[in-house]
Amino acid sequence: MKISQIDLYQVDLPYSGGVYRLSGGRSYTSFDASIVRITTEDGIVGWGESTPFGSTYIAAHARGTRAGITALAPDLLGLDPRQVDRINETMDGSLVGHNDAKTALDVACWDIFGKSVGLPVCELLGGSTGTPMPLISSIYAGDPQDMRERVADHRQRGYLGHSVKIGALDSEGGPALDAERIAASLADRRPGEFFIVDANGGMLPETALRMLRLLPPGLDFVLEAPCATWRETISLRQRCPYPIVIDELAQQDTDIAFAVAHDVADGVGLKISKAGGLTHGRRHRDIAAAAGMTISVQETTGSTIAFAAIVHLGATVPARLLRCILNTEDMVSLRTADLAITRHDSGAVLAPAAPGLGIEVDEGVLGSPVGSWSL
Ligand SMILES: [Mg+2]
Repeated sequence: MKISQIDLYQVDLPYSGGVYRLSGGRSYTSFDASIVRITTEDGIVGWGESTPFGSTYIAAHARGTRAGITALAPDLLGLDPRQVDRINETMDGSLVGHNDAKTALDVACWDIFGKSVGLPVCELLGGSTGTPMPLISSIYAGDPQDMRERVADHRQRGYLGHSVKIGALDSEGGPALDAERIAASLADRRPGEFFIVDANGGMLPETALRMLRLLPPGLDFVLEAPCATWRETISLRQRCPYPIVIDELAQQDTDIAFAVAHDVADGVGLKISKAGGLTHGRRHRDIAAAAGMTISVQETTGSTIAFAAIVHLGATVPARLLRCILNTEDMVSLRTADLAITRHDSGAVLAPAAPGLGIEVDEGVLGSPVGSWSL
């Protein structure tokens, strides 16, 4: 089996909640998606997506994603898409880093692999645990009472986990405002719910420690990405009473190995385009699982195609380690595909049983390709 054609599409994905606000004064209203279609000589089609969270989240931005795909695509023509590790070696040999660009191509290869053998991608990644996966909301930073109401709205819609964003600048209210945001967001907590308090690297050890001292006792949450650097995170961890989860710092395989070796964290936010695709994502999963770290499978946002990859990787994480998966599809107002997940009464979901990613892409919303390469 050989890759005979690669097409690249660009789609704007408006944020479904208006303006998304993160620590450090960052805000977002729309996300720029790069979507890849890979076709094999025998006519199997695979899809992959990579949508950076703007250009101020990690070292990735959408025009760079497409420049990277443009650099990589010609080298993949003629290769067997089922040999996913060899595909990744070829990409790494052509371009150092740029995991966001490699992701769309890698995921499309997994989609083809699944379709070629009639199995869903989760089965190829090790097999679905069959345990319904809780969905996590993404509650942007704002007024504490408004955040409490948005948590309640997501609770009503079946979300069992909530990612509550904090990291106020001193000029915005600083640690005192963040403590109020956490207390308000957790105020109506129900049994079985899970809370991640996520600063997206926006705090210093000093501001984080001040905030923690202002919290009322008895709140149950994990603190995600409090600081932007390893040094700061390690320093805070030694003085923080809450479990720490890393996210933005965990990109390369070596980052996960480092986190384990230095006991930096108790869990990891595994975002597929941050890792470079499902091939590296499964490696992050395995290293984290071997170390007893909890895992939440996410993306740097994206449409249904990105959500499909999340669902399949999430399905393979041992149930006791899987905290939640992120429903990126719900964060954007444009649908790029249909995904036949099974929803349980609890709100948790199961991966589709159809071959590959199990998606039907609506090519009508993609427009014309912005790049095409063929044998
Ligand atoms: Mg995060």
